[in-house]
Amino acid sequence: MQKLGPHHCDYCRLAMPPSETIWCSYCLALIKSVPRCQRCGLQTEHEAEQCGECLTDPPLWDRLFCIGDYTDPLKEYVNGLKYGQKFWYAHDLTSLLVPRISTPAPLLLPVPLHWKRRWWRSYNQSAMLAWALEKQLNARPNSTNVRCDIHTLQRIKATQPQQGLSRVERQKNLIAAFHIIKPIKEKHVAIIDDVVTTGATINLLCIELRKAGVEHIDVYTLCRTGKRFE
Ligand SMILES: [Zn+2]
Ligand SMILES: [Zn+2]
Repeated sequence: MQKLGPHHCDYCRLAMPPSETIWCSYCLALIKSVPRCQRCGLQTEHEAEQCGECLTDPPLWDRLFCIGDYTDPLKEYVNGLKYGQKFWYAHDLTSLLVPRISTPAPLLLPVPLHWKRRWWRSYNQSAMLAWALEKQLNARPNSTNVRCDIHTLQRIKATQPQQGLSRVERQKNLIAAFHIIKPIKEKHVAIIDDVVTTGATINLLCIELRKAGVEHIDVYTLCRTGKRFE
């Protein structure tokens, strides 16, 4: 989004020529693509369809697309979108993700927030990302119709943040946290989240989506980071 006044990189504050992006070319160069497992999305030595861990214990989704790890400068922009009310970051962030998505899912489903958290934060950052993705994926040449739906998934339990909980506590925390409240016609969907760390939330959504008849589940996320999903 074009801002008025002098232009500065939002991360390093370097003055830059009028530009429509939120980062300077130096910071953008730091957001590098590294080899990853296409399934779980974690870093691997070489680009692979599935890493060793996915061959023995795969996640419940089929493919994960991300920009990078949850590290600076990407982390700073993700936090600005999530906690800093910087809605306009969604456009620039998703513009880095879109070129990596080969065959877009026709239905994009953002991970819902519980109404209490959305009320406190006033918006759902994953929905912001899903809308930006919908717009950009549909603007590509030869695009097939992609639509975002924020009313299909509902979070029915206000879960605690997953960080700092043990594996058992995390699983307990997530039990019956989501509902699908609308029938899904599409066989291929994508779950949209800002950061995927353990993948436990996404796995849980996958269980519900498979029950609803979805056959192929992709995950579109800005950051894939941390340990193996549990
Ligand atoms: Zn910069
Ligand atoms: Zn893997």
